[in-house]
Amino acid sequence: MAGLAVVEVSSKVDFALSEDHRMVQRIAREFAEREVLPHIKDHDEQGLFDQGHVRRMGELGLLGICLPEKYGGMGLDYISLAVACEELERVDTSLRVVLSVHIGLSSLGILQWGSEEQRLRYLPDLAQGRRIGAFGLTEPNAGTDVAAMETTAVRDGDHYVLNGEKTWISLADVGDTFLVFAYTDKTRKHNGISAFIVERGTPGFSSSSIHGKLGVRAGNTGSFVLEDCPVSAANMLGNEGEGFKIAMSCLDNGRFTVAAGATGLIQACIDASVKYANERQSFGVPLAKHQLVQRMISHMVRDVEASRLLVYRAGWLKNAGKRNTRETALAKWYATCASFEAASNAIQIHGAYGYSNEYPVERYLRNSKGAVIYEGTREILEVMIGSYALGLREDKPIRRMLPGWPYTDGEDL
Ligand SMILES: Cc1cc2nc3c(=O)[nH]c(=O)nc-3n(C[C@H](O)[C@H](O)[C@H](O)COP(=O)(O)OP(=O)(O)OC[C@H]3O[C@@H](n4cnc5c(N)ncnc54)[C@H](O)[C@@H]3O)c2cc1C
Repeated sequence: MAGLAVVEVSSKVDFALSEDHRMVQRIAREFAEREVLPHIKDHDEQGLFDQGHVRRMGELGLLGICLPEKYGGMGLDYISLAVACEELERVDTSLRVVLSVHIGLSSLGILQWGSEEQRLRYLPDLAQGRRIGAFGLTEPNAGTDVAAMETTAVRDGDHYVLNGEKTWISLADVGDTFLVFAYTDKTRKHNGISAFIVERGTPGFSSSSIHGKLGVRAGNTGSFVLEDCPVSAANMLGNEGEGFKIAMSCLDNGRFTVAAGATGLIQACIDASVKYANERQSFGVPLAKHQLVQRMISHMVRDVEASRLLVYRAGWLKNAGKRNTRETALAKWYATCASFEAASNAIQIHGAYGYSNEYPVERYLRNSKGAVIYEGTREILEVMIGSYALGLREDKPIRRMLPGWPYTDGEDL
């Protein structure tokens, strides 16, 4: 029925976190609070991306958290990935972005669309953090309108020659393995885009960092250029012309991690606001006694719970191997907009002090804005959700798109 999401999943609903989920929560929380929190203010001010933190995430297993053990991962489910993202972003958005891009957009794309040979070649290094994955879709003249991309890949014997520029790419200057989208046949529009795995070091590949960003300053964002860049035909992901479909399925995973992270950012706003509202006095009582202050905090609590439920539902569908484009888009749209509002209200509660970097809430606001733009802007997600409701859009299962969990053993999924 148009407008209603009728989802049939056989596994029973369970709101409790499992032993594994709690283990991930503990590992990610301890890492973020003990090793990242003491440095994040300085790193944000200096625009410093800490490669040591990324190496540590690899040691802790976080970079391969939901990749099968067969490929060097921890073999955990999508809720584990969500829990890790939530815990990381409670402290630092930049490291959550690493998980979003490295796992959500890149490694899971190779798992879901790669041949067994490609999986065995790339996933163990990605899962263990020996290589960092990135995702190059956006171009100077093509963001929301993906089909406006200008990058081309022309077949020449046993390889393709890539030419083009990708910009606003997370981890552009620190990544090793890039999923790159390029036209192999421009006349076929969306169906003429193909996906490639491009390694740093390929002749003609060069990258640079973008400076002066509003947020995610402790993260790396940049551009890369492909100039007559020869990429082996064996590095094509999926088939020729499947690139758009692959990019959108990668975004289903990336958006999920962004939504989970935004939930953590709302939690951070609650933690900071509750503490400050209990400490700061006005009119002879703590701010916590003023009902309009209580209202801002109650909105945050409503939004953190709603966001978490939307994320867990999307994760539950992913675990069951069900198409979840609608549910993931809804979770990402709601959670990122709610986190931006929560951060704005957290500053409000802190008054003038919230307006300076003496407190972390100004960083939360700057970081939350990016997520309302990347991996599907607020507007494009609204359009998607409206289209589903109006019966203008309906998704079908896509072969090889959703592996389910636990994964089948390296077969075509
Ligand atoms: C911090 C950061 C990290 C990023 N990381 C990556 C990455 O790793 N890989 C990658 O490929 N890209 C990445 N991006 C790029 C990001 O995905 C794009 O910025 C995003 O898709 C929007 O594209 P655009 O910036 O070109 O905006 P545009 O597409 O030009 O849109 C501008 C405005 O117009 C609105 N708009 C456009 N079309 C419509 C429409 N049809 N209906 C309604 N409104 C519309 C948009 O919502 C937006 O508000 C990143 C961006 C940022 C800020």
